[in-house]
Amino acid sequence: MKALRFYGGKDIRLEDIPEPAPGPKQVKIKVKWCGICGSDVHEYLAGPILIPVKRPHPLTGRQAPITGGHEFSGEIVAMGDNVAQFKVGDRVTVRPTMPCYQCYYCKKGQHIQCEMLGSIGGAADGAFADYVVAPVDNVYKLPDSVSYEAGSFVEPLACCVHAVKRGRMEPGAAVAVIGAGPIGLLTMQSALACGASDVFIFEFLPERMRLAKELGATEVINPKEGNPGKIIASLTSGRRADMVFECAGPGEALLLADTVCGRGGTIVEVGLMTEPFKFPFSNLFLREKSIITSQGYVDEFPAAIAFLGNGKVKCDPMMISSKVKVEDALEKGIKELTSERKLQHCKILVSPEL
Ligand SMILES: [Zn+2]
Ligand SMILES: [Zn+2]
Repeated sequence: MKALRFYGGKDIRLEDIPEPAPGPKQVKIKVKWCGICGSDVHEYLAGPILIPVKRPHPLTGRQAPITGGHEFSGEIVAMGDNVAQFKVGDRVTVRPTMPCYQCYYCKKGQHIQCEMLGSIGGAADGAFADYVVAPVDNVYKLPDSVSYEAGSFVEPLACCVHAVKRGRMEPGAAVAVIGAGPIGLLTMQSALACGASDVFIFEFLPERMRLAKELGATEVINPKEGNPGKIIASLTSGRRADMVFECAGPGEALLLADTVCGRGGTIVEVGLMTEPFKFPFSNLFLREKSIITSQGYVDEFPAAIAFLGNGKVKCDPMMISSKVKVEDALEKGIKELTSERKLQHCKILVSPEL
């Protein structure tokens, strides 16, 4: 079968490899769609980060080359021994994280902090391929109301539902989201699905502003026009946002989050901040604001699937900016997302069946 394999930083190759066979308590899945994640692009540009290159991963025993792709949906085509809960033909998605289930953090239910955490598409072969194998504990059925395209959004959506949980958002909260990329748009919809009264999106790219409005933003504000603090104050009877999700990444975005967050509010940092920068901590202190971080997910897959199933979160087709085949996933997918055209894209989906 064809597979897009990560060898190391800036070294990804399309190869022909044998189809994987499911072991005990594993299923073999025919991949339908797999999203390209910012982390795939980061792995290509700045890696190796997640992919073990120098030595085998302690949990999976695997090292590069490893097939990428962790945001996927597909159909079960074969099962290993001791698989009772699934059958051939089931439509599924997969939680890619592979925790050890033994360490202190795993036992506390914080799998994402596992000392040996591995992942499908990171420390085990992923879904930029015709087939992928997954442990049954990681597999979730998709209801008929969730298309395969939407099924490939469950993983990033789970990150966003996790962010809402990490922030302990209260029903009726006035929420601001910085950035209307894929994670910003899914976080906005997660917050609304979890009971936010209003979600104000801060974004300056016209296409993303339009998408945010279409997907349910109460108001879309261009932070480059006017005073963002005054604008959000005017929309919230002066109090500003109770909760701000920072989904853009650079330091200025966190400064904007601080500006639009009201007294006693919470800023949840969802974007990946790679560079250190100066932050006026006294603003937080005087107004008793909190900053917390949110990375990945633990057990938010059922909630994400439910939100896609009942239509509270929409991604298909609005959030899909391009569909490419596995053979083109490097040139027209990952490299496209490193080009100057990257901001014109929302989500690029890859399929072996195109
Ligand atoms: Zn991802
Ligand atoms: Zn662990």
